[in-house]
Amino acid sequence: MFSCWLSRQYWGFSTPTGRIAHLIRGSLSRTLVLSSQRRTPEFSSFVARTNTCGELRSSHLGQEVTLCGWIQYRRQNIFLVLRDFHGLVQVVIPQEESAASVKKILCEAPVESVVQVSGTVISRPPGQENPKMPTGEIEVKVKTAELLNSCKKLPFEIKDFVKKTEALRLQYRYLDLRSFQMQYNLRLRSQMVMKMREYLCNLHGFVDIETPTLFKRTPGGAKEFVIPSREPGKFYCLPQSPQQFKQLLMVGGLDRYFQVARCYRDEGSRPDRQPEFTQIDIEMSFVDQTGIRSLIEGLLQYSWPNDKDPLVVPFPSMTFVEALASYGTDKPDTRFGMKIIDISDMFRNTEVEFLQDALSKPQGAVKAICISEGAKYLKRKDIESIRKFAADHFNQEVLPVFPKASRNWNTPVAQSILEEQRSGLIRLMEIQEDDVVLLTAGEHKKACSVLGKLRLECADLLEARGLVLRDPALFSFLWVVDFPLFLPKEENPGELESAHHPFTAPHPSDLQLLYTEPEKVRSQHYDLVLNGSEIGGGSIRIHDAELQRYILATLLKEDVKLLSHLLQALGFGAPPHGGIALGLDRLICLVTGAPSIRDVIAFPKSFRGHDLMSSAPESLPPEELKPYHIQVSWPADSEA
Ligand code: ASP
Repeated sequence: MFSCWLSRQYWGFSTPTGRIAHLIRGSLSRTLVLSSQRRTPEFSSFVARTNTCGELRSSHLGQEVTLCGWIQYRRQNIFLVLRDFHGLVQVVIPQEESAASVKKILCEAPVESVVQVSGTVISRPPGQENPKMPTGEIEVKVKTAELLNSCKKLPFEIKDFVKKTEALRLQYRYLDLRSFQMQYNLRLRSQMVMKMREYLCNLHGFVDIETPTLFKRTPGGAKEFVIPSREPGKFYCLPQSPQQFKQLLMVGGLDRYFQVARCYRDEGSRPDRQPEFTQIDIEMSFVDQTGIRSLIEGLLQYSWPNDKDPLVVPFPSMTFVEALASYGTDKPDTRFGMKIIDISDMFRNTEVEFLQDALSKPQGAVKAICISEGAKYLKRKDIESIRKFAADHFNQEVLPVFPKASRNWNTPVAQSILEEQRSGLIRLMEIQEDDVVLLTAGEHKKACSVLGKLRLECADLLEARGLVLRDPALFSFLWVVDFPLFLPKEENPGELESAHHPFTAPHPSDLQLLYTEPEKVRSQHYDLVLNGSEIGGGSIRIHDAELQRYILATLLKEDVKLLSHLLQALGFGAPPHGGIALGLDRLICLVTGAPSIRDVIAFPKSFRGHDLMSSAPESLPPEELKPYHIQVSWPADSEA
């Protein structure tokens, strides 16, 4: 397993040929040409070993090698299996009297101790080969051994199949990192980032620029972490993204910027969120949406792991309005159907009261999704829990209808659906035997949102029952475009907030609406969605200082003083520009199939934002807070 993983990782990438090689040779300096020529990495340069454990094969027979690694296990004091990042190899412990000291070291060292051994690569005796092990044809006959460091009793075994809680894994993260899975995830991440750098900097002339992490508050957007300073009452903030800096770099003439940027948002952890996370952050001058989209498609295609099916570009795109209407969300999972269908027209003369009621209101609609084979795979209690979910979370009534199935759990209300409507549904939704229709009615957006959520819940339920809806090898990318520029604020729907961020440019054809009906303005914002997760987002920016000021001050009611530096810069010949940021952790999580982004980050925070290994954040004694002129005001129920 280890060696095929490694070959995918290190020997799977093809060397640049044709147009790309020409580009590299034609336009870049000699140093860059050298650095972009790919070959197998030298895993054993500069160090004590001659080879890695996982690389040894029959072709190494007879060679004298030195290996360094961890003791995976020992068999009858005769064999030892040694492990490094590259794989496992069997080592034969010498039994001769003359090698007693070597035998003692190798037999006494506890499992997970680090040893260095030297010896000869020999073939395994006939019949003792292990075809399951990539190094299974050979073994190493040890001559000398050194115990580099002994291992104390471990809190858990370093074996992927040994189950451990996530809290324990995070507390001993350095041990967890020894697992095959974590090694795979982090090495794949490193390879993809390297290819991205190569694509952006070497092939397309981007400049990798670091921007500050000590910054100030940005109005509108995520909650920021606050950092005290030694000036009384003055605080830095950690940037939620390098957004302002990358725009200022455009004003500064660095017209193709990129950074592997650390971003900070004080919003707690979720399976796909971390308080600190990494973006592939990009900005370009003189570009439009098509340019950014092509760049990202090329970038992903170039950096895509070789063991996966190559990406097909361009990625499809869908407007925000269509995404909401057909999938009930702005990040549709397009790996499977079950789209939301508007069936309002079929029910205009219905006698069902709640449908009638919904249709009589402005924006009122009747909507449905068809769950293929739902009657076969879902149990009655599943349907009941789906209805309860819709009632509890959305205050929405959902009717299950079984237009063709012999099984019938139709509610009394659903039974009053007329024959004509039933056959209409069968026709419009192409209903098959055993399909279930979930029907709801209400305000368009709300009805779509509830069905969008139920669509995903049902997919999970069907898959738990053995139906494969989402091919695990499928990567379904989608651009979502034409977002509204503003959304009503959640806490105060009378006010507007930016759908993306306040620097996003309006759609050119909606400019005039800014001054009359701003809530109707579409934006030049685009999101990249992969398998139902948002993995990137960006926009063409406002480069006109007056327009930016109007949006901030008049429409968003923000304090423009906080952004006076940016407004001033836009007035000094800012070029038209736009950009995007890809969420690297989420992308790698989806590529590796990891259950959480914490599995693709070396040292992630816990669900509550803690570092379980070092116990950060921690309290500081009052005298250490003095230079910052701050005092803790302890909550009444606190123990401190
Ligand atoms: N800075 C934005 C974000 O973090 C991305 C962008 O607009 O480029 O979402």
